[in-house]
Amino acid sequence: MNALESMKLYFNRAADRLGLDDSYRKLLLTSKREVQVQVPIIRDNGELQTFVGYRVQHDNSRGPMKGGFRYHPEVDLDEVRALAALMTWKTAVVNLPYGGAKGGLAIDPKTFSPRELETITRKFIDGIHDVFGPDIDIPAPDMGTNDKVMAWIMNQYGKYHGFSPACVTGKPVDMHGLAGREEATGRGVAIITLKVLSRMNRKPQQTRVAIQGFGNVGTFVAKFLSEAECKIVAISDVSGAYFRAEGIDVSAALRYTHEHRGSLEGFTGGTKISNAELLALDCEVLIPAALGGVITKANAASIRAPFVIEAANAPTEIEADDMLYERGIFVVPDILANAGGVTASYFEWVQNRQHYSWGLNRCRQELDAIMGTAFQDVWDAGKEHKVSLRTAAYMVGIKRVRRAAELAGIA
Ligand code: NAD
Repeated sequence: MNALESMKLYFNRAADRLGLDDSYRKLLLTSKREVQVQVPIIRDNGELQTFVGYRVQHDNSRGPMKGGFRYHPEVDLDEVRALAALMTWKTAVVNLPYGGAKGGLAIDPKTFSPRELETITRKFIDGIHDVFGPDIDIPAPDMGTNDKVMAWIMNQYGKYHGFSPACVTGKPVDMHGLAGREEATGRGVAIITLKVLSRMNRKPQQTRVAIQGFGNVGTFVAKFLSEAECKIVAISDVSGAYFRAEGIDVSAALRYTHEHRGSLEGFTGGTKISNAELLALDCEVLIPAALGGVITKANAASIRAPFVIEAANAPTEIEADDMLYERGIFVVPDILANAGGVTASYFEWVQNRQHYSWGLNRCRQELDAIMGTAFQDVWDAGKEHKVSLRTAAYMVGIKRVRRAAELAGIA
């Protein structure tokens, strides 16, 4: 099942519970606008190459659309459509005044020089500058793009429309970016994990956590959960997984990765196990924070953690999700668990519009409050309708978008 089919299946499950009629299903599953542009560049070797850039603006019933730009060889229109719709539900679940969008290019950024990447980005913006902007659609980083790319976007957009830092988020902190953006997704995952534990009357001190992925999200999840006194029994990255029953020294692991170009390869603070073994560890909380599709129908039966918090996007395949639900395992879905990132992007946009900086403490306080309220809303919907937290999250999101569409008036 591809990303678009999965999104539609989850949407329809929630829509069934909401009694959403076919006309609204069609409205909410049809993109508002889909743009496809030619992106030509002259490579450093003098060769002309042409790529196709996409921007899908899914829905703006609740406000300007928000979503990343992805540079990855497998980007195609269907994937971008699915990711744009997911952003609509995600921004609605955390109740931001936004809709959803996504964009991208089917390129492998590692195979381009910095000059080539800058040119590609600027050409892409030349093609779409008139369909996005601070009140229309605000891009952000996603796979294969970073704060540097966002700075080029702001600069290129400014050539057409003047100084507009709020046209894009995820910018460098020294260029209208947000202190706290880097940690926000991991912090949000940690907040949600602690809320789940508190709901289930479990103490952090008696909670063993296994985290797959030790990049931007995984490192901050580990940092914040260990600060909350959870025992991080396993961490991992592409080099393998590292297990210590008494708890990994997270500060030592962070120091190690800083000294080894982000890699845990050679880390001796835990016994080396495989990433597959990490998923099946005897622990209370499992946090996939690396790739999509890692929990499958082949390994779902071996998962022992009673709580799975989806820090990565789409780490659980649909069949596996059903198997976990039937076994009574709580899965906190990605559209809630990792929404801290887009929430921090919203703070960046708000501050850019105010030409004012809140500072890190206020960002953290506001993030904690928004994530806490979103968790409560989804938890309550799950209890009321006796559905999984995933279906509950979709129900909360879809209901809010439908209400806004109705209030604004469609005809
Ligand atoms: P990242 O590139 O910083 O880190 C990814 C980590 O996963 C690295 O430690 C890498 O070594 C590891 N990894 C890669 N392949 C692996 C494998 N086969 N097995 C185990 N580990 C593997 O990425 P990130 O920004 O931390 O994002 C992680 C996930 O979270 C992605 O699914 C992303 O879409 C999602 N996400 C990120 C953000 C954000 O703000 N960064 C927001 C929402 C969702």
